[in-house]
Amino acid sequence: MILHDATPRPPITAYGIQIPITGSNAARTLQYLREQPDLAARQNEWLREETLTPLGAEAILRVHDKDYVERLLADDQRCDREIQRTFELVDHQGNYHRYDPDTAELSLKVLRNQSLRLAAGTSRGAELALEVPEKFCFYLGGGMHHGQKDFGEGFCPVNDLVIAVRSLQAAKRINTAWIVDVDAHKGDGTAALTNGDDSIHTLSVHMARGWPMDQPKILADGRANPSWIPSDIDIPVDSGEEAQYVPWLREAMAEMERRFPLPDFLLVVDGADPYERDQLPSAELLKMTGPQLLERDTFLYQWGRSRSIPMLFVMAGNYGYHSWEVFSAFLERQIRGEVEPQR
Ligand SMILES: [Zn+2]
Repeated sequence: MILHDATPRPPITAYGIQIPITGSNAARTLQYLREQPDLAARQNEWLREETLTPLGAEAILRVHDKDYVERLLADDQRCDREIQRTFELVDHQGNYHRYDPDTAELSLKVLRNQSLRLAAGTSRGAELALEVPEKFCFYLGGGMHHGQKDFGEGFCPVNDLVIAVRSLQAAKRINTAWIVDVDAHKGDGTAALTNGDDSIHTLSVHMARGWPMDQPKILADGRANPSWIPSDIDIPVDSGEEAQYVPWLREAMAEMERRFPLPDFLLVVDGADPYERDQLPSAELLKMTGPQLLERDTFLYQWGRSRSIPMLFVMAGNYGYHSWEVFSAFLERQIRGEVEPQR
């Protein structure tokens, strides 16, 4: 089952921000799938389009700091400042960075609402994964793995992943979850927010260098930088090591299985930014091919399926005009039943 938020999504440039995020990789993925005649004929079996509403304070407060949530949800300058920080719109000298409010058609509070609506899809997708017969949902959004307890970072004002798991736990629908992060960037917020909690275990496979691993160990306010808190297992992959990526991921999942009981739920942060045709400069270190990424996604899917663990995949990092190829290659096979594990 694919979950898609039917709400129209303005381009990031409508907020006066110049970042190569195109909201259209979800749309392009869907368009591709709908263009396949055999899939189009039975679209109601694999596609759930819903109009989502932004996450509310109650859900966010399960994970984030009370004062931060108050500032983020405020309808005044406090929200603008938090969004400016999250989207890195102000440099160290306090000047605007890749941001020109004069060109903005929409306020940063609209961007906040948009982000919280995307984040809500992760919680909704997690519910669907537990409800649908195949116990699998792929949400065409989400993946805000840099969101920290009391600040947003890396375009992630909240951590939708931990919020989704906490919400399922609060509803007593699951006890334990693993969050497996294969975005190009380390799942630093997820690791920090779940550190020391035995009910959520984390694995992150990411670029060995670059953001967020190039940050100082100490924040500007003197606190230890939470980005340096490790996941249960971290697998750094350097340039030239792409062929090792999937073998290392397989070993890491086996190691997770040795160290921890199997979880009630698996959340996969399925970034396309390790892809060689992804266009985010800060993810250029990894140049995985389409077939390598299809092997990655197929392995994770089969891992969960063969253990009967309900799974949610979220789209996570995807930048530029080609990243949809990664998602659609996996999804068309998944819908056709071509990636089912051998029984
Ligand atoms: Zn990323």
